[in-house]
Amino acid sequence: MPITTIYPYLKAAQAGGYALPLFDAFDMYSADGIVAALEEKQAPAMLAMYAPMLTAPNGLAFARYLRTLAETASVPVSLMLDHGPSVEVCLRAIDCGFSDVMYDGSQLPIEENIANTRQVVQAAHAAGLHVEAELGHVGSGSNYALFGAQGKGFTQPEDVERFVAETGVDILAVAIGTAHGVYQGQPQLDLERLAEIRRRVPTPLVLHGGSGLSPDQFQAAIRCGIVKINVATDLFLTAGAALNAKVGSAQPGAPVSYFDLGKTAVDSFCRRCGDYLDIFWTTGKAK
Ligand code: 13P
Repeated sequence: MPITTIYPYLKAAQAGGYALPLFDAFDMYSADGIVAALEEKQAPAMLAMYAPMLTAPNGLAFARYLRTLAETASVPVSLMLDHGPSVEVCLRAIDCGFSDVMYDGSQLPIEENIANTRQVVQAAHAAGLHVEAELGHVGSGSNYALFGAQGKGFTQPEDVERFVAETGVDILAVAIGTAHGVYQGQPQLDLERLAEIRRRVPTPLVLHGGSGLSPDQFQAAIRCGIVKINVATDLFLTAGAALNAKVGSAQPGAPVSYFDLGKTAVDSFCRRCGDYLDIFWTTGKAK
């Protein structure tokens, strides 16, 4: 299928009451496993590159690999830049063949976040891409107890209409109690805040920091208006555990081959992404 912007699929998810995942790929094994899951489950989704990778020495080559995977998949796949830290990096992603970009100005004062997001939106729209931005700040799981669990960084509902109107952003990431990485303690979601944001704007809403939430928490968030959910850490922890188990199961004198390890990694990504597609009710939605 031709590579696609994800926006019309997010609008369909909004109408249909399900969510689409964004899975971050960090190498060829993870990317292959992610796309295998999307094809097996007949699900549209975003295959993503975490922005610092784009500026790494092999970033462009990896972006081209991901783009080829997205183009040749039998289901709709968007290649999305995740957490673009500057206007310049987002412009580079547009030039490199991404089909959607996220600009993350969430740690800047709101005026700067608005000004930068607007610049990315103008360039992206001119090239046919859609843009996600973050309002409020989703912190790190490693200091969750002192940040997200205290309501710090949460999106203020009263800022949302202005942010969307002044930036023209298409997709909005909100901070309502999730965090990136492994949570210190248990994640708690502020669903009332999410519902209030939902009432204020029709913009597709995004939950970052999906790893560590329960199926019930995901589904409650989807019922309150989330249509895109980002997941990364859990995929790597699960694959790491599978690789360790594989090595641990080797018989003396018969070590696991490099190729078997690669297959183990791909299979782990495929299985775990498949679980998320079932939980988010994305399975079968490519048709
Ligand atoms: P996790 O790594 O916590 O799943 O978060 C992923 C994410 O939000 C990427 O943008």
